[in-house]
Amino acid sequence: MNSTDFGPLLVSYEDVAAAAQRIAGQAIRTPVMTSTTVDARTGAKVFFKCENFQRMGAFKFRGAYNALSLLTPEEAKRGVLAYSSGNHAQAVALAGRLLGVKAAIVMPMDAPPVKVEATRGYGAEVILYDKHTADRETFARKIAAERGLALIPPFDHPHVVAGQGTAAKELIEEVGQLDYLLVCCGGGGLLSGCAIAANALSPNCKSIGVEPELGDDATRSFRTKTLQSCHNPETIADGARTHSMGKVTFPLVMAYVADMLTVNDAELLRTMFWLWERMKIVVEPTGALAAAALLEGKLDAKGKRVGVIVSGGNVDLDWAAKQRVSTQ
Ligand SMILES: *Cc1c(COP(=O)(O)O)cnc(C)c1O
Repeated sequence: MNSTDFGPLLVSYEDVAAAAQRIAGQAIRTPVMTSTTVDARTGAKVFFKCENFQRMGAFKFRGAYNALSLLTPEEAKRGVLAYSSGNHAQAVALAGRLLGVKAAIVMPMDAPPVKVEATRGYGAEVILYDKHTADRETFARKIAAERGLALIPPFDHPHVVAGQGTAAKELIEEVGQLDYLLVCCGGGGLLSGCAIAANALSPNCKSIGVEPELGDDATRSFRTKTLQSCHNPETIADGARTHSMGKVTFPLVMAYVADMLTVNDAELLRTMFWLWERMKIVVEPTGALAAAALLEGKLDAKGKRVGVIVSGGNVDLDWAAKQRVSTQ
C-alpha cells in the first residue's frame, strides 16, 4: 500500500477493475453521448458519460453494489445501514434488494415524501429521525451498533470509491485516450475513483474536480493541502453539500487529481437547462457541475479530448419548473 503525506492510498486501479467485474450485468453500462454543438462551442471533442441513465438514476449504484458484494457472509446476514436523504439511500436500498441483504436507511423526518417512498419501494426499512433533537451520524451509529448492522458510507470507503471509478473505466475503454476528465465533487468518492481509473488507462489525462462555489471545501482543501470543511452550504447542487472530503478520499484526490474548479449556482442552472433542451439529457443540479465547468468556459479545452461525467438525473420537476421561470 502506498502512503503519502496526506494519508494512505487505500484504493488502486486493481480494485476498480475488480469492482467492474462485480457490477457487470447488474449496473447499466451507461451511454456516452456527444454533441456537435458542444464541440463547436468549446473547440474540443467532448464525451458525456451519462450516469443519469444508471439504475436508480445516479452513479451511486456502482459503489453501493460493490460495497455490499464485499460484505462477509456474517455481515450480509445481519444487514446494512446507511444515512442519506439523497441518491445513496436508493443505491443502498436497491443493491440490498438485488443481493438479498436487508438495508435500513436513516432519513430526517422532513425528507421529501417521494424520496422516502422511493427508498421503501426498493425494499429498504426507512428509520426517521428528528434532526432538531438528534445528530444524524450519532443516531445512525447507535442504531447500527444496537442491531449489529454494517454502516455503508456514501463516499468515504475504499469499496465505494472503487465502485464509482468504474464509470471512468467504461468511458475511457469506449472512447479512448482523453486529455481532460471533468468530474463533480461532493465528498470526492466519484472524483477519486474516476481519477484512479483515468491515471491507469489514459496516463496523460488530467482529472479535474468541479464543485459548487458555495460548497468549495474540496477546492480549498486541494489548494491548501489541508482538509477543509464547510457547513450546510446553500447551493442548489444538493449532492455536493457534503461537509468535507474524508480520510479515504482526501489522500486519493491529492494523489490523482490535477486541479479543482468551481461554478456558481446561476451557471449550474443555465447548464442544467441547456443539457435538457439541447442534448435531451435530464440531469439534476449536481449532475450538471462537470458540464458547467466546460460550457461556462472555466477550462480552455480547445483541440482537446474531454470526458465529462454526468453524475445523476434525480431532479424534482416542480422545483425545476419554478427555477426556469425565475431565470427567464
Ligand atoms: C453523491 C452525488 C455526487 C457527489 O459524489 P461524491 O462521491 O460524494 O463526491 C454527485 N452527483 C450526484 C448525482 C450524486 O448523487
